[in-house]
Amino acid sequence: MNTALLTLDALNAAGEDDFVALLDGLYEHSPWIARRAFALRPPRGFASTAALKHAMATVVREAALDEQLGLIRAHPELAGKAMVANTLTAESTNEQSRAGLTHCSAEEFERLQQLNADYNARFGWPFILAVRGPRGEGLSRQQIIDTFARRLNAHPDIERAECLRNIHRIAEIRLNDKCGTVPALGNQVWDWAESLARFSDPGFAENGQLTVLYLTEAHRAVAAQLADWMRDGGFDEVGIDAVGNVVGVYHGEDRNAPRLLTGSHYDTVRNGGKYDGRLGILVPMACVRELKRQGRRLRHGLEVVGFSEEEGQRYKATFLGSSALVGRFDPAWLEQADADGVVLRDLMREAGLPGTMAAIQALARDPARYLGFVEVHIEQGPVLNELDLPLGIVTSINGSIRYVGEVRGLASHAGTTPMDRRRDAAAAVAELILYVEERAAAVPEVVGTVGQLQVPSGSINVIPGRCRFSLDLRATTDAARDALDADVRQRLAEICARRGVTFTLERTEAAAAAPSDAAWQVRWEAAVQALGLPVHRMPSGAGHDAMKLHQAMPQAMLFQRGLNLGISHNPLEAISNDDTELCVQAFMALLDRL
Ligand SMILES: [Zn+2]
Repeated sequence: MNTALLTLDALNAAGEDDFVALLDGLYEHSPWIARRAFALRPPRGFASTAALKHAMATVVREAALDEQLGLIRAHPELAGKAMVANTLTAESTNEQSRAGLTHCSAEEFERLQQLNADYNARFGWPFILAVRGPRGEGLSRQQIIDTFARRLNAHPDIERAECLRNIHRIAEIRLNDKCGTVPALGNQVWDWAESLARFSDPGFAENGQLTVLYLTEAHRAVAAQLADWMRDGGFDEVGIDAVGNVVGVYHGEDRNAPRLLTGSHYDTVRNGGKYDGRLGILVPMACVRELKRQGRRLRHGLEVVGFSEEEGQRYKATFLGSSALVGRFDPAWLEQADADGVVLRDLMREAGLPGTMAAIQALARDPARYLGFVEVHIEQGPVLNELDLPLGIVTSINGSIRYVGEVRGLASHAGTTPMDRRRDAAAAVAELILYVEERAAAVPEVVGTVGQLQVPSGSINVIPGRCRFSLDLRATTDAARDALDADVRQRLAEICARRGVTFTLERTEAAAAAPSDAAWQVRWEAAVQALGLPVHRMPSGAGHDAMKLHQAMPQAMLFQRGLNLGISHNPLEAISNDDTELCVQAFMALLDRL
């Protein structure tokens, strides 16, 4: 093995054969990937290892299906025959032994052999998992077995893509080893997020689940921890405000110059993930820590806010934290009671907060004192994952409209009522669902979903007399949303008239779209390009704190890819240290250009 570390300069100076030789071992027995990536090397060389990794992922994505399957099949089984026979490549031996697979108990070994056999029978290729994991330090044997069992149930197309993504992650870690690269900033953020996850509400904590609802003991502990880390990291002013937001300020050279505002939320949904919201607090914290370490001040100050509440889990209100900053905290919220009858005002007082509107109104920021608001967030969707891109730039936060509705027909005997005499409420809703799907698919960046369906007191031998449903319509612009909304409502009326049934439709929510500010969006694009990565623009399907700040100042968001198909609001939510490193670097690049 080479003891000298590989450098990007060496790769950029190398001829084709040397280039392939330098990258040997990154992709198991598959030198064709490095060879084709060489053809993608720009005349001045790859701008970064991120650019190189993206080129190699592109090669694999554009390869023929046979080639992709060949790449997957070039990998050994986990704890399989090759491991036992000691015929693994040096890289695989290192990974499998680091994951402790060489020290399985007899029971674990047997379980893995069974999983290997079942998996191979189902898919026809070996199970691929980057066993060194999202932090690069190795998954536990239990994590490996759980992931194996879960993915055994996946659709073959999805599973093949997931294997390829794991192969890219394996290659990424191997490249780090070859280059002696440590994603230190990404590790810092990852470790902070892991450490914060030790605080969880009762009823969930016991089961290893993460739930942090507004102003619970765990919630207050998270706030105190964030404030401690901010102080340690070199923020000049740190405090917890009247709604529980954690606010840290890193002054600029000119204290009177307008500041950049950033942040995201630290509350979670029930049984949620570790990165939703928190990433957007921890990434700028890592930047400040780094600036302090380098003894640097920016011209403008940076204000980082850990918003106390965004998810709307405990009270019938969302964005409690960011609403206060834009002066839109509704006084009626203070009188609300949660499911246990705890009134918000009393809860605040018990938590040591004033619980008065005067104190909350005092939190409203003067937009003239800010350059704008930026927010980093995990994507919470599959798009970046599918494109093998670590970062994406948000063009707009979707506007949405939500309804709950009910169609009423006639519950009659399933055997005696002829097909042409029926008033089937569920069939009418089924027709609506298909229309929503077709209408939303016909226009880019519009989505529509019926997520809840219920036939109250339905029975196997009764035609549905009632059918309740929900409707969630979203679009990147209010105009597109309103057009979708009008079409869907008109079609519902038509369907019901034709079928001789009636309906009710109650609007439960409407939120305006929040298009990104053009200048801030361009700054994010430049920051991503500075890392050597392509710019991918995308709408945000989910709501975020930036949506609230949008009401007061220009805003733009940066998305980071989530692992496990981008799943979120779920314990499987995950990010890698290398992606997070890029995210911190992008934030630094943004700050450097202010
Ligand atoms: Zn969030």
